[in-house]
Amino acid sequence: MKNRPLLMIPGPIEFDPDVLAALGAPTASHVAPNFIEEFGQALERLREVFLSEDGQPFILAGSGTLAMDSPAANLIEPGDRALAVNTGYFGDRYGDILQRYGAEVTHVRADAIGGRPTLDAVAQALDAADYKLMTITQVDTSTAVLTDVEALAGLAADRGVLVVVDGVCSIAGEELRMSDWGVDVALTASQKAVGVPPGLALFVASQRALEAWRSRTTPVLNYYADWGNWLPIMEAYEARRPSYFGTPPVNLIRALNVSLGQILAEGMGARFARHEQVGRAFQAALAALGLGQVPTDPTIAAHTLTAPTYPEGIGGGDLLPRIKEAGAILAGGLHPEIKQTYFRIGHMGATDQADTLATIAAVEAGLAAAGYAFEPGAGVSAALHVFTGAPQPQA
Ligand code: PMP
Repeated sequence: MKNRPLLMIPGPIEFDPDVLAALGAPTASHVAPNFIEEFGQALERLREVFLSEDGQPFILAGSGTLAMDSPAANLIEPGDRALAVNTGYFGDRYGDILQRYGAEVTHVRADAIGGRPTLDAVAQALDAADYKLMTITQVDTSTAVLTDVEALAGLAADRGVLVVVDGVCSIAGEELRMSDWGVDVALTASQKAVGVPPGLALFVASQRALEAWRSRTTPVLNYYADWGNWLPIMEAYEARRPSYFGTPPVNLIRALNVSLGQILAEGMGARFARHEQVGRAFQAALAALGLGQVPTDPTIAAHTLTAPTYPEGIGGGDLLPRIKEAGAILAGGLHPEIKQTYFRIGHMGATDQADTLATIAAVEAGLAAAGYAFEPGAGVSAALHVFTGAPQPQA
């Protein structure tokens, strides 16, 4: 009994008590030996969570947008071409960021919101011009669409194009294998599947990305995000040496180290499988309740969040407060063109079977209070069928 509703939005999420305790501990000096050890360990663990063999991890104070901004600032020189594989709002944002640093940006989009561009469309786009870099949003939080990073990265690698993956709503939840899949920069933020309150921008850069940065002929047009300022700091902490460029957020980094330790203790394979199962449970529940979803096909739906559409005649202003009253805080729509038509349920990090069932029960209670007609328990039952592996009853 938490005596408060569950926070089930796509970030920030519910955090583990040990992670929160690290935030409340007395703050150490940023050059204290115990903090240097924790920072160094967090960098090593980040490489493992990103499944990168030899990438360079960066931990910076900032939100996910800084984690997007920094690779753009460091890899783009004015006049470079960049391709954005666009599945929603955050693809648009990446295009804007790249443009700010002088890139000529082309977007390759799906035919409809909730879809994703075909591999053929992306291959054709890549062949149409000489691109330096391609961005992929692994899960676009505005549409809950999951992209096929492995296949997309393969297309870019065949053509010598750098691959940057916005994994803010996916990394440490959806499967992402940086080295095996040939990803050059993978990035996220602390407040989602990584399981730490907001405030950390996290990314890992491949050796190929560092090489591209080193061979720039123009200065990086962002002082704070310049890898020239931060690379020596990350290298020093990993070598367990004191170092300073900008004061690191000591308590957040300690909390990060605790959370990364928990993630690795669970094991990446087990963690991906748990997220997949929870995602399938939410999808089955919403389908059983008769609600549509933004992704145009269940096979491209994310496992870290679900984006159901409102039933006919019921709006967010009516439904979401009732669901909160019943125990779960959910988020409204985000994509500007369809914002009023759908809501979002985040299920990342520590979300387990109990949280899933409690959230679905709260959705059912909210729907009932809003006057929607359905079979009570249908959603919970469909989710339980997923968790127990029992075959779903035929509709
Ligand atoms: N990319 C994606 C896919 C996201 O979901 C978000 C946050 N919702 C961001 C980028 C930006 O992160 P932040 O809000 O931490 O700046």
